[in-house]
Amino acid sequence: MAEALGCDTPPIDPFDVVRRERRLIHAEGDDFGDAFDGRIRYLGRRFLIAYNTCYDRWPHQGKHHSKVLFTVAHELGHFYLPEHRRRLVTSRRAHDSFTEFVADRQIEQEADAFAAGLLMPKQLLRRFVNAENFPTIERIKEVRNLFSVSLTGLLVRWTQLSDFPCLTVAARGDEILFGWASESLRSQGVWGVRRGERAVGKEFQSFVRHSQTGGGYRESKANGALYSWAEHEGRRLLTQEHYFYIPHTGMSWCLVMADEQDFERQSY
Ligand SMILES: [Zn+2]
Repeated sequence: MAEALGCDTPPIDPFDVVRRERRLIHAEGDDFGDAFDGRIRYLGRRFLIAYNTCYDRWPHQGKHHSKVLFTVAHELGHFYLPEHRRRLVTSRRAHDSFTEFVADRQIEQEADAFAAGLLMPKQLLRRFVNAENFPTIERIKEVRNLFSVSLTGLLVRWTQLSDFPCLTVAARGDEILFGWASESLRSQGVWGVRRGERAVGKEFQSFVRHSQTGGGYRESKANGALYSWAEHEGRRLLTQEHYFYIPHTGMSWCLVMADEQDFERQSY
């Protein structure tokens, strides 16, 4: 998609895609309160996308907050993914979305994945992700700004594109909701996170307690162990971890990074 847009530098603007598809898509923004983040409906010949601009009240650079851009990209997912489009065309009903990895339904996860891929194309993001095994929180935020995306979206994509052993985990309180393992970690037999279980790491527990009393955005880094997030053949592999508390969703997002060399040593 990025290539089709002739875009070889970030950020990718989803409104460029909307403009290219203007024969088929009409997009309108407005403050829809908490009704939905985005809505798409097939009207016969054209698709109408409504996106919620209430998030533009949050501090941001550029015309729209990254949450709004992500929502437009998510709705484009419903337009481009063949099964999604078929459903819209046959039902003719409006489809409402809450975007950016807050919804569990498969169709929403697919549209979120499409949005992340559109805004953070592999060929543009990969070199930032794979520059070092242990990027700092500051570096991750720099990349977020460069691509005009949210931390949440970036962290999901980070693990997908990483050549290093790492996990992205979403938690509510200390309960692990869902997560992704990098290819390198999957090749070591770690396929996913301990969904529905408590994250037992002391440092993360303390981060959660402080976030719940503080209420605002928080970030922190800590040392931990892989087994508190994922099954891994009982080996106590140590990790470096970045935590981000996102007050809007009440969720904590964690980037859990293992040392590539620890795996190499263990394979002897
Ligand atoms: Zn949706």
